Amino acid sequence: MRCAILADIHANLQALEAVLADAQECGCDEFHCLGDIVGYNANPSECLEIVRALPGACVLGNHDAAAAESEALDHFSPLAKQSLEWTRTQLQSEQKEWLSTLRPMRQIRRYTLVHATLDTPLSWAYIRSSAAAEMSLACQRTQLAFFGHTHVPGIFVQGGGTISMEEGLQLPTDTKLFINAGSVGQSRDGDWRASYLVYDEESAGLWLRRVEYDVRSASQAVLDAGLPKRLAERLFLGQ
Ligand code: ZN
Repeated sequence: MRCAILADIHANLQALEAVLADAQECGCDEFHCLGDIVGYNANPSECLEIVRALPGACVLGNHDAAAAESEALDHFSPLAKQSLEWTRTQLQSEQKEWLSTLRPMRQIRRYTLVHATLDTPLSWAYIRSSAAAEMSLACQRTQLAFFGHTHVPGIFVQGGGTISMEEGLQLPTDTKLFINAGSVGQSRDGDWRASYLVYDEESAGLWLRRVEYDVRSASQAVLDAGLPKRLAERLFLGQ
């Protein structure tokens, strides 16, 4: 089984379509989503429909949860808040219901999917260091777990340390790994291209894929939707 692991699509239809085309070329037959299908960009409804039709599992992200509710958005940044208010007007009630059925964590055979952390998945903490990853790794019941939320790809190893993800690599099988897939729709590591993972279960091979997409159209769609200019600009910067 060869899986595509997608995180933080954030309503970027151009990026999602480019990533799915690349994943097909890579021979992926299963597609898992680590949450935050919606928020920030201009095509929440279209991205939701594509993701729910994919063969694979999807877990809940903080933007998905917020878009499905009607509660105040005061704990979000002003940019996120503005985009989520708009997103709520774009989704049909049936689509919001589907989002609200997503679970925060899923185990697929021998690995786990989560948006933020495994210790307290609904507190939406950001894992940006080995020290921060330890609490989650202590709660990890499978050798591998995949997460998103920070929009920065990387691998944290239990006991400390990281593994770099240049080109393809053979994952070690004797230690727990907490692996961030980066973001499909709003990269934040200085590289504007979409990020996702290809994981081959039989060989334990992992590839971090960076995919060029029509960023001009995605950015223009943000402006056309009346969303903040900063959200359109940041797509070119990867931040
Ligand atoms: Zn996100």
